[in-house]
Amino acid sequence: MRTKLMNMLQERKDEITQIRRHLHEHPELSFHEAETAKFIQDFYKGKDVEVATEVGNGHAVVVTIKGGKPGKPGKTIALRADFDALPIEEQTDLPFKSKNPGVMHACGHDGHTAYLLVLADCLIQLKENIPGTIKIVHQHAEETPPGGAKSVVESGILDDVDQIFGIHVFPFGESGQVYYHSGYAMAGRTYFKLKIQGVGGHGSSPHMANDAIVAGAYFVTAIQTVVSRRLNPFDTGVITIGSFDGKGSFNVIKDAVELEGDVRYMNTENRDKIDAEIHRIVSGIEAMFGVSVELTYTNDYPPLYNDPAVTEQVVASLQKGLGEYLTDISMYDMLSGSEDFAYYLQKIPGVFFYIGAKPKNTPHAYFNHHPKFDIDEDALLVAAKSVADVVLDYFKLNG
Ligand code: MN
Repeated sequence: MRTKLMNMLQERKDEITQIRRHLHEHPELSFHEAETAKFIQDFYKGKDVEVATEVGNGHAVVVTIKGGKPGKPGKTIALRADFDALPIEEQTDLPFKSKNPGVMHACGHDGHTAYLLVLADCLIQLKENIPGTIKIVHQHAEETPPGGAKSVVESGILDDVDQIFGIHVFPFGESGQVYYHSGYAMAGRTYFKLKIQGVGGHGSSPHMANDAIVAGAYFVTAIQTVVSRRLNPFDTGVITIGSFDGKGSFNVIKDAVELEGDVRYMNTENRDKIDAEIHRIVSGIEAMFGVSVELTYTNDYPPLYNDPAVTEQVVASLQKGLGEYLTDISMYDMLSGSEDFAYYLQKIPGVFFYIGAKPKNTPHAYFNHHPKFDIDEDALLVAAKSVADVVLDYFKLNG
């Protein structure tokens, strides 16, 4: 079975590339991926699978591949690839450059979808040999909160799934290298906004007003102590104020200001600690300055947690590819970026791992979300074979 599947994937390498290029040329923004979803649905037309469309809060497509041996239901695993693009004007010279102005596949989700479509089709062809069920999750809207993943989980379509796997292409290393991180691997993220309401007045008469800018400035200063004084020095967190709207006139006391910020953390304990501290400081600012504060505090994607036992299992499965399609399997640092695959992992044990995709013959690889971002397409076959090995090993089909 393994030799058969690996050969099938190898033979379809060009097809993976062609699909990736087609998607790259036609990128669509999160929650607006109607054409991409249609392309995916068309791919499965006429194949012996159940296809659920418009799953969750968007265009997700979930394909159920039921293995042979009816009456003997085995385990169920899920494989997920995202398919949305970003609001970026592409600056590459690729012949298959984006045809949608201001929209670009700058995070490699085109490649994720291309490899998974072809792998899914191969698994469909071999399904009589599979003692269980495989759910293929083509997910919309990874890039924009609230994201698609949470709603796909909440739809219940994955309730019977025992393990879930996903990959991401990154230019950490070249094609043939894969990376993993056990436990908390990617940061969680919170958005906050506060509107501080004071009393406006004449610049000459502060005693008759209540200056919102001064209160806001104290808030900015006070929150600098949250990470430095409240978190364990061996933990990490980031609080950034990205916007402070205090524009006014030189001789007028501002009645209200609005601040917006971003919080990142590597585990839920620190998320809750930072949350409590920011709320406490907001109450403190109100008491100290007699202003009123309207606080919006939204936890977006949770920290991404790779189950340590499943991570070990995946690393063991990938060993089979070493010297064949893999040159290296390495542990990687935690990433400060966020990813909505974290929602699946809150419910289902699994692993999200990374595929090296640094373009060949370039001195400098642009990172994901850069207008010149590109991948080495050879990495997509590596992704397909890596995930194939994880699936085969799970169902004990290595022969
Ligand atoms: Mn991404």
